[in-house]
Formats: sequence, C-alpha cells, structure tokens
Amino acid sequence: MARAPVSHPDAMRLVVELSSIYVACDDCGHSRILEISNLRKAADLGVHNYMQLCRKIRCSECPRVPPALRNLTIRPTWVDAAPLYTVA
Ligand SMILES: [Zn+2]
Repeated sequence: MARAPVSHPDAMRLVVELSSIYVACDDCGHSRILEISNLRKAADLGVHNYMQLCRKIRCSECPRVPPALRNLTIRPTWVDAAPLYTVA
C-alpha cells in the first residue's frame, strides 16, 4: 500500500502541527517513533511541512537511497487528532 507523500492530503500541513510520527521500514522491518522533540529539531533545520519532512525521513539501518526508492510506512499523529464526536 504505497502512497506518495506528495499526494497526501496532509502534505502541506505544518511540522509543528504534528505530535508524533510512526515510521516503519518495509525493507528491514526497523521501526521508530519520531517524538515532538525530533520534530521540533527538524522544524529548526528548516523543514516546515509534512511533505518536506517525509522526504527527509530515512531508515537508519538501511543504506542511503533517494527518497523515491525508500520503502517507508509513515503514519503521522496530528496534534488536533482528538475525535470530533463523542458518545454522550
Ligand atoms: Zn530499513
């Protein structure tokens, strides 16, 4: 289920709107969670939106490859991801 981050509906959302990102490498199975401190660091380095961030993410276990050749599953959690409806 490969989905290009560039066509993702959240592509232009800001890195500062994220609370964390789950990243799994489909090549080696390694996974990690980027916490808010990692995301703040990325924002400090000039990564402003989700699309830019996705291009920067790579597996620390696998050799460096261009973004298009990476097989990463990226699942963002947004700060405002709280349910819109509650059951009373
Ligand atoms: Zn990997």
